[in-house]
Amino acid sequence: MNLAERMNRIGVEKAFDVLVRARQLEAQGRSVIHLEIGEPDFPTPKHIVEAAKKALDDGWTHYGPTQGYPDLREAVARYISRSRGIQVGPEHVSVVPGGKPIIFFAILALIEKGDEVIYPNPGFPIFESMIRFAGGVPVPVPLVEERGFVFDLDRLRDSLSDRTRLLILNSPQNPTGGVISREDMASIAEMVRERDLMVFSDEMYSEIWYDQPPVSIAGFPGMLEKTIILDGFSKTYAMTGWRMGYGVMPEWLVTAVTKLMVNSNSCTASFSQRAGLVALDGPHDETKRMVAEFRRRRDAFCDGLNGLPGFRCARPGGAFYAFPNVRGTGWGSKQLADALLEEAGIACVDGAAFGAFGEGYIRFSYANSYKNLTEAVERISEFLHNKSRRPRK
Ligand code: PLP
Repeated sequence: MNLAERMNRIGVEKAFDVLVRARQLEAQGRSVIHLEIGEPDFPTPKHIVEAAKKALDDGWTHYGPTQGYPDLREAVARYISRSRGIQVGPEHVSVVPGGKPIIFFAILALIEKGDEVIYPNPGFPIFESMIRFAGGVPVPVPLVEERGFVFDLDRLRDSLSDRTRLLILNSPQNPTGGVISREDMASIAEMVRERDLMVFSDEMYSEIWYDQPPVSIAGFPGMLEKTIILDGFSKTYAMTGWRMGYGVMPEWLVTAVTKLMVNSNSCTASFSQRAGLVALDGPHDETKRMVAEFRRRRDAFCDGLNGLPGFRCARPGGAFYAFPNVRGTGWGSKQLADALLEEAGIACVDGAAFGAFGEGYIRFSYANSYKNLTEAVERISEFLHNKSRRPRK
């Protein structure tokens, strides 16, 4: 029995493979510092956990509406309207189990065989995987290190064609931490406003920024009806395991996403949704504390990486990833990432796992303690200074 042909076109996420290998090494007694997985190392805030416990006690243990509970959708609409400076209602919101299903559903609902989809490269690997899975044509646009890992706007303009159906943006960005400026976002909106395409705006890291706040393309004139906003609870409230996310989009697309939801999940867990409501409407102090701590780590970790021979690390404007250029070490980025895990106990991800333009870079998640990050820099330094280790390409 063979798998369906489409299974040849779906990809994976390398960070999870690195995690498996790191756990094997740990089982053999080796010490590993985990800088591979993209999840906050903070607990979910207590008041959110308490809300979920209460919801379980109160019997929120059954199916709920496929689109999400109306009061949660109202809270999402309020939050998105307030934070993005736009006007949306609960009818524009789909609540789903995590951020990923919105990527999956929106691309399945919109992309026909041969449709072109523009996306950032290096970028979140699920974009390219899903474009191919849906039969679309991936059109990668490189992010430019010198521009803070943002598109070259001329290159983006040249990539648009009559067959472009979707433009994917992700700001703050995974894996680079790049944030698209208001000025660049205005230019991008200008480029696509008159075109017959949709914009998928992945805003999963919307609350995790350090210098300039990210802006949503949905807030520019004429863009609201062309934009799908993805946001969720995983990063903002350290809720990766709860599987809670949402999309905000025009109603005709909500209808399609709801059909895909009823065919795949029926609904998002009812007690998780009750907790989500408390997360959105409750205090955001813990998110602020988490971001302040990420900033402290970012500054120290990037300084540490910049002190290593052959490393050059731009200071990321958001998310919690450092994405140093490691070409100066003489190592290939895959070889270096593998050797750092096997020989120095540093779990990290080769930049090429995020697309061909990520070759020569490594992604380190600094969602780990200050102490471990300091030790990680020491271990990498020792590794690079060990003269018996020859760079491998
Ligand atoms: N989008 C981006 C850019 C991400 O980095 C992630 C998670 O790493 C997601 C979407 C998916 O989030 P979730 O874990 O809620 O599915």
